[in-house]
Parts: sequence; C-alpha cells; structure tokens
Amino acid sequence: EVRVRFAPSPTGALHIGGAHTALFNWLWARHTGGKFILRIEDTDRVRSTQEYEETIMAGMKWLNLDWDEGPDIGGDYGPYRQTERLDLYNKYARQLLDEGKAYKDGSAVIYKVPLGLDIGFDDEVYGHVDYKSDALIDGRTGVMKDIVLIKSDGFPTYNYAVVVDDHLMKISHVIRGEDHISNTPKQVLIYKALGWEMPKFAHLPMILGKDKKKLSKRHGATSVYEYRDMGYLPDSIFNFLALLGWAPKGNVEVFGRDLAIKEYELRNINRKSSVFDFDKLNFINQEHITEMPVREKFELIRPFWEEMGVDCGKLDLEYLGKCFEIMAGRGKTIKELAEFSDYLVTFAPVAARYDGSDLTEEHRVLLKKFNTDFLSRSELVTPDQMLAFAREWCDANGAKLKDIAMPLRYMLTGYKVSPGIFEVIELLGHDEVSKRLRHYNV
Ligand code: GLU
Repeated sequence: EVRVRFAPSPTGALHIGGAHTALFNWLWARHTGGKFILRIEDTDRVRSTQEYEETIMAGMKWLNLDWDEGPDIGGDYGPYRQTERLDLYNKYARQLLDEGKAYKDGSAVIYKVPLGLDIGFDDEVYGHVDYKSDALIDGRTGVMKDIVLIKSDGFPTYNYAVVVDDHLMKISHVIRGEDHISNTPKQVLIYKALGWEMPKFAHLPMILGKDKKKLSKRHGATSVYEYRDMGYLPDSIFNFLALLGWAPKGNVEVFGRDLAIKEYELRNINRKSSVFDFDKLNFINQEHITEMPVREKFELIRPFWEEMGVDCGKLDLEYLGKCFEIMAGRGKTIKELAEFSDYLVTFAPVAARYDGSDLTEEHRVLLKKFNTDFLSRSELVTPDQMLAFAREWCDANGAKLKDIAMPLRYMLTGYKVSPGIFEVIELLGHDEVSKRLRHYNV
C-alpha cells in the first residue's frame, strides 16, 4: 500500500515550497488510492509553535489537501507529533548503543559511521545517487562525520527521527524537496544500522524565481495565505503548483484536481528546477475565475466588496451573473476583479476616483444635451441600439463619439478602462445612470 507523508516543521506558515511538497505527496496518495499522512516535526523547541502548526493545517485545508492520518485526527501509527514520540527515539538509540553501533558523548547519543559503506540510493526522480560513507561524491575523499541521533537535551535530530518515524509509520515513498537529497545518505546509514527496509525516495525539483535564484521573499509572496488574501483561488494555486515539475499529458495548462489525480505519476516528475512564473499563475487564476459558477464567485468576491463598504445583501445572482460576464478576463485575482468591478455594485468609489473637475463648461453643455436626449429614449435597450443612437447624435451635433463616451465612462465607472460603456449602462439601468450623472451635474 502506498503511504506518503508531509512532515512540516511548525516554524512558519505554509509556504509555497511546503505546499508544493504536500501537493506532490497528496497526489500520489490519491492517484494510487493510498494514504496521505501529516506528521509534525516539532523537535526544534525554540522555533516550533502550536500556532504555526495550526496555520500550516489551515493552509492545507484551504488548498483542499486532506490527510488520512495526522495529529488532529489520529490514526493507527500515531502519535503524529515528534515531541510525543521521544520514547520511540530512545528505544532505538538504546538498541544501537547495546549493539555497539552508537556511543555516548556528554549525554548525547551518536552513531559511529562505519567506513567503506555504500550508502547510495535510487531516487525516483534523480535516478541512482552514488554515495560512500568515506568518500564524498564530489570526488573529495574524506570520512563522513559521526551522526548525532539524540542531542544532549534529549531531543532527536532530524535525520534520526525521520528514519524512525518513516519506518514505524510504514511510509512507502518519501517525497520531499531536493534540498533534502544531501540528507538522504545519512538516513540510508541509519536504515542500514537498524536493519530496516528503505522506503522509495523521490526528491522534487527546486523552485526558482524568474532570475533563476532559489525562490525567496525577494520574489514576492511566499506564504500560501498571502496568495489567498490577494484573491488567488485554491484551485489555481493547486493547478499552478502541480505544474512546477510535472505536467499532464498533452501540455494541458489549466486543469482541475480530478485530472491531476488521474494522470499524476512519480516517474513523470521533471528533475529540472522549475521557475515560479507569476504571469502563468495569473493566467491560470483568471481561467479558473472565469469558469467558476456565479454563486461561488460571489462568495469569494463578497468579503472584498464588503471591505469596500458595499452592502452585498441587496445583490441578486442574476445581476451578478451579468456583471461577471462583462468582466470576464478582467482582473488576475478575485481582489482585482472586486476592485475593477466595484462601480457595478456601488457608486461611492466612483465619486472618490473621479470628481469631474477636468470638464470645461462647453463640454458640460454638450454632455448635458446628450444625456437629456439619450435618457429620454426608453426604447434604447441593447448596447448596440445605444451605440447606434450615440453615433447618429454625434453626427447631428458635430461631436466626436469619444467626447461623449470617455466622460461617461469616468462618471459611471471612475476608471479610464472598463468594458464597453453601453454594456455598463445596460447593466446599471436608467435610474442609476441618471443618478450618477446628476452627481456630476451634467
Ligand atoms: N521537517 C522536514 C522539513 O520540514 C521534513 C523533511 C522530510 O520530508 O524528510 O523540511
């Protein structure tokens, strides 16, 4: 049975790299019908907090990465927090001491690395990784330092605890970031010392920024929550992360969970580092937003509008559906969509953005005349009819269409760019349009 785990240290929020690792494990469990386990590696007592543990779990839930065993829900192989497993680490350290494979120094327990041992391993992504206990792979010869198993404070080291846990939790595949590949030979040593069968290893390619440097804060938001707050959909982040080192058949770029679960294979993971491309993320997000049903989209956009002071209780789904339709393809995130479409649900930000002071008296006279004629024509229903009327009116009055359309756009939306102004007018309706124009006194 496939059993994989995500083993974060609760020393920070769930960041992009962690979410990527969690996702690649989760996909393997779901693809194979196996189990996805959450294990909290909290042996760094200074930096680990309960709060971070909760934030990481909340981040995973936001991404819809559900786990089958974990500290909150238990399971047959618990406890799932390393600090609750100290007796297990002590038990096997004792065994190694008894067998003469480890020694004590201070009160720490240290594993004595034997010479000449082959500790290479087969990686599902990187192929065979060569390693000897007394000859480093980069050609320099030297002896590997002995490995601390239990520190003098009584807590296990990462390399030791991870082996004990992966073995006892019957982990079949260790899937984790490439930055751990150099730890693996040490873990192989410990498996050998304890006489345990090794799991399969799959190290995931590094994620780089566009400048080809390791992804960091400098490149922009790193925590999954920052993306949520910017208005990225969980499905978009899921889709985008899945593409960092993997792709479904046929170069499909926009896809949902089901397709990823169906097609995901460890052997298709690319060992080349992948680049975190914001343009691609934005494109993917926009596609997912566009495809989303109206009600769901409204639930997502609602907090952003409410923060702007919009009374969302008055909005009906039919109207919103039309709004989202004319806004299709605008706004890379829900937040931008909320901002770019605020005028469809409220006038206050329009008045704040545009005060009409740039209009000359002559221009006002022209606009007033047009507006009076235009608004009296109740037979103008569709945007096409409105446009045809505006064209004729301009011809007859020696005006240019843009002299009418541009100020109208500013007075109704507060923006220089918007969907077709007559589409906006159709949606706002006669009464709302006259109200807004009255505000500008035209
Ligand atoms: N706690 C380790 C980390 O957060 C886990 C590494 C592993 O998966 O073995 O990097």
